[in-house]
Amino acid sequence: MITIRTKAEMRRHVAGARAAGRRVGLVPTMGAFHAGHHALMAAARAACDEVVVSLFVNPAQFDEASDLADYPRDEARDLAEAEALGVDVLFAPSPDEIYPAGFATSVRVAGLGDVLEGAERGAGHFAGVCTVVAKLLNIVSPDLAYFGQKDAQQVAVLRRMVADLDIPVRLEIIPTVREPDGLALSSRNVHLDAGERGRAVALSQALRAAEAALRDGERDPERLRAAALDAMAPHDVTPEYLALVDPDSLQPVDRVDGRALLAVAARVGQTRLIDNALLEGSDPSLQQSEVTSRPVATPVGASTTTKEI
Ligand code: AMP
Repeated sequence: MITIRTKAEMRRHVAGARAAGRRVGLVPTMGAFHAGHHALMAAARAACDEVVVSLFVNPAQFDEASDLADYPRDEARDLAEAEALGVDVLFAPSPDEIYPAGFATSVRVAGLGDVLEGAERGAGHFAGVCTVVAKLLNIVSPDLAYFGQKDAQQVAVLRRMVADLDIPVRLEIIPTVREPDGLALSSRNVHLDAGERGRAVALSQALRAAEAALRDGERDPERLRAAALDAMAPHDVTPEYLALVDPDSLQPVDRVDGRALLAVAARVGQTRLIDNALLEGSDPSLQQSEVTSRPVATPVGASTTTKEI
């Protein structure tokens, strides 16, 4: 695996890979890898010839300075894990490389970026996400780009952006990886103390309670939400939002007859967590599209040398 720090070198490297007929996959991340990131990298490794993982803690998408300052960072560990998974390139640019002096452009997806997370965190959050992802897609020009279903609104917003801006990439969405007790893996989980870690299952239990009510025949969004809220209450966790929306438009649904996204956000102590489930109202046997976290295995034949560029 090689580490690349500059846009120019990244472009040169990808041009070489393309000239050799290699299919390029990009996994955008902010580092502090966990099994969710590993799942994206493994999927890219399985489908692509050249796997690029970007590691950039994007200041533009943080709405709280303290959140940015406290965001977990461990590049040496990330590098070793990416290498063990057979990643070819770690693209780890500096903030100045991505946002040089005079940078003035922002990509905003109106509507989709303004609700749910956008409403809580401000419209600037998804503008920050879209701007950096558009730049990464332009710098790396991958055939495939990998994102997690964990950030369901991000998926909807990026699909819109890629379609609207005619960016020639296919988005691959990977199911949410969870701890054995259901908590969705997140880089922010390290901030939870023992008591908060116990209470944090409130989010996934809310989703499972709504799924159970759906299986029992409930299709009314308010009753499904009530079932989810009831499951959170014993953990003393109050959601910032708990919404049943269309997965593409993110608009509230009147009835869960087809696909619906149940999205939840809540603070547990100081730590803000999000989770979601795709509900299928027309299918009585709900598909379980989740996987439980597993430790990283070193793939046979994975490169063991690291070169800094
Ligand atoms: P982040 O480093 O938090 O920006 O996440 C990088 C990518 O990993 C995003 O596409 C996330 O949606 C995805 N991701 C984060 N957590 C999980 C998870 N628990 N399961 C699957 N994908 C995840």
